Amino acid sequence: MNPLYDVVVIGAGPAGNICGYLTAKAGLSTLILEEHERAGLFANCTGIIGVEAFRRLNLPPEPIVSSLQAITFYAPNGRSFRYDPGAPLAHVVSRLTFDQALVDLAQSEGAEFRFGVHARVITVEADGVELREKEEEAEPIRARLAVIAAGFGSNLPLQVGLQGPKSIVYGAQAEVEMEGLRDVEIYLGRKLAPEAFAWVVPLSPGTARVGLIASRQAPNHFKELIDHPPIARRLRTPRPKMLLSPVPMEPMERSVTDRVLVVGEAAGQVKTTTQGGIYYGMLCASLAAETIEEAVKGNDFSARRLLRYEQAWKRAIGEELKMGLSLRKFFGKLSDAQIDALVELGTQEDVIGLVRKLAQFDWHRELIQSSLKLPALQEVVRGGLW
Ligand SMILES: Cc1cc2nc3c(=O)[nH]c(=O)nc-3n(C[C@H](O)[C@H](O)[C@H](O)COP(=O)(O)OP(=O)(O)OC[C@H]3O[C@@H](n4cnc5c(N)ncnc54)[C@H](O)[C@@H]3O)c2cc1C
Repeated sequence: MNPLYDVVVIGAGPAGNICGYLTAKAGLSTLILEEHERAGLFANCTGIIGVEAFRRLNLPPEPIVSSLQAITFYAPNGRSFRYDPGAPLAHVVSRLTFDQALVDLAQSEGAEFRFGVHARVITVEADGVELREKEEEAEPIRARLAVIAAGFGSNLPLQVGLQGPKSIVYGAQAEVEMEGLRDVEIYLGRKLAPEAFAWVVPLSPGTARVGLIASRQAPNHFKELIDHPPIARRLRTPRPKMLLSPVPMEPMERSVTDRVLVVGEAAGQVKTTTQGGIYYGMLCASLAAETIEEAVKGNDFSARRLLRYEQAWKRAIGEELKMGLSLRKFFGKLSDAQIDALVELGTQEDVIGLVRKLAQFDWHRELIQSSLKLPALQEVVRGGLW
């Protein structure tokens, strides 16, 4: 019979690895399962992580390939404004090396990994959780608790009675060779990225990640983006290879049941303003690890006990997610002319002052709330859009 682990984590992405690292560090026997042969192998991600995350979670700096300092926002009419806070806001990582660095970290605390194992069947028994690659498998992997950190789209939560995030958007992105790169470039407007935004994020000199978020027709918008003259004339990759992935747009309601917790993108713990999911997922995974430690100490794996994790993550990011959703709904209704006017506002002294005072890479609620009080912004959105 297979050994009984304290914790089995399904998925060696950022959320799963951090959770496994912390449970192993707390002295719990921890096994992490990853369906691919390496962590981060097929991650379709720009890899932007705010400086706060590096500081707060003590993340390894080695996977950083570039830093994000100034951002230039482009309106549909081509006008722009540049925001330079004077210090890096975030770093850009290679997901392959970042996810691997987290594997190393977890292993250094004694976490075990099994790569190439796709957990397809999860069953909760009276004395533990069982995971199998195939229904008929006689020797399941067993643990007292399971953490589902399998990213978006896994049906494991459903198998234990938990409903996954309901609404989704799509991220379309390619890594390209490009000239004339300096700042991160954000493109707004209905043609390129209705309801959201498109980006050019410089990596090493001459290479960038180019992509967008859209609720529908993302591949068509991606084509518009690479044909967009300010991008097309600098692009040196003839046919960029676009990858398309769904990203949740709201969190799941219930993220725990008896002996099971769901963390990261699987739980919809993704910024609703930008769809950045690495930091929020890891932050919530660290809260999950705290609850797991208590549950093991108290030998209580009931949903009632595990609910502490759900309460903690909702306290940490719940209001941010709600505010972000409202902002996105509002933004989705704006015409290109209104977006032009908003970008124009970004050049005004009072707006720049407010942004300098309140802008944080990972927390947007305060800035959104205060911006809405600006008379100039109210002017732009007048007409009952908000
Ligand atoms: C185009 C695009 C750009 C993005 N850019 C950013 C960005 O710049 N910054 C940011 O913060 N976020 C970004 N995101 C979102 C970010 O990529 C995700 O939110 C993040 O990867 C979620 O981490 P996770 O650990 O929850 O899940 P994942 O990174 O998806 O990891 C889940 C892991 O579980 C494994 N797995 C899945 N099912 C099983 C199974 N049944 N058994 C075993 N293993 C399994 C997978 O192989 C994977 O390794 C972007 C998303 C897209 C689509």
